[in-house]
Amino acid sequence: MNKSKLDLSILISTYCLVLITIAGLMNISTSSTHVRRYVQKIEKVAPPQPEPMPLLCFNLTTKELRTSDVVSMCADGEESLGTTEIVHLEVPPTSLNRTLEIRFLAAQAEALKLGISLQITSGFRSRDLQAQLHANAVRKYGSEEEASKWVLPREVSHHPWGTAIDINYPGDPVADKWLEENGNLFGLCRVYENEWWHFEPTIAPGESCPPMLSNALGSLPSDESVNN
Ligand SMILES: [Zn+2]
Repeated sequence: MNKSKLDLSILISTYCLVLITIAGLMNISTSSTHVRRYVQKIEKVAPPQPEPMPLLCFNLTTKELRTSDVVSMCADGEESLGTTEIVHLEVPPTSLNRTLEIRFLAAQAEALKLGISLQITSGFRSRDLQAQLHANAVRKYGSEEEASKWVLPREVSHHPWGTAIDINYPGDPVADKWLEENGNLFGLCRVYENEWWHFEPTIAPGESCPPMLSNALGSLPSDESVNN
């Protein structure tokens, strides 16, 4: 091979090498772009999830409350206090919501350790009973609106839906003060400023209760007349 042929061969080899290197770099660049897009896509599809709420389990025999992890759930003989606000079902029930009952039993057991007695004096009410109580209140207070500050119509009250409880009414409100201050640990909140006895499961256990409404009129849907 003469010198000029050798030079040409070296030149061609170098040129090929440069082309291969450029192609390689482009491929890496394309791959990393793909990876970046894929990661962005995953981030879009699955945003970081909040930590699951710890699960409170109440033992019906020992009356003890235990914190479980969500994965292993509650053991036999225990029932969960739930991890969300309790909202009623579409179909009217025939008894108190079971998870609300468990929340109350857990709070009752804890209060009893401090010598405080809590009893449900009114929980689930039939729709007929709620209608009767509302009619009585209309007679007592003189108008639908005034009555609804104390006893809601049956369509709106949470008692016929099994998601409201009256505690120790019409007894001493002192014990209820403990529940008002500590009920949030069990997912129970006092709802109305004018009803020290009325509690609802409006939060997950451990959350803070929302500010109270001044009375039950605040629970009426804004587009609904109290005449319903
Ligand atoms: Zn009530």
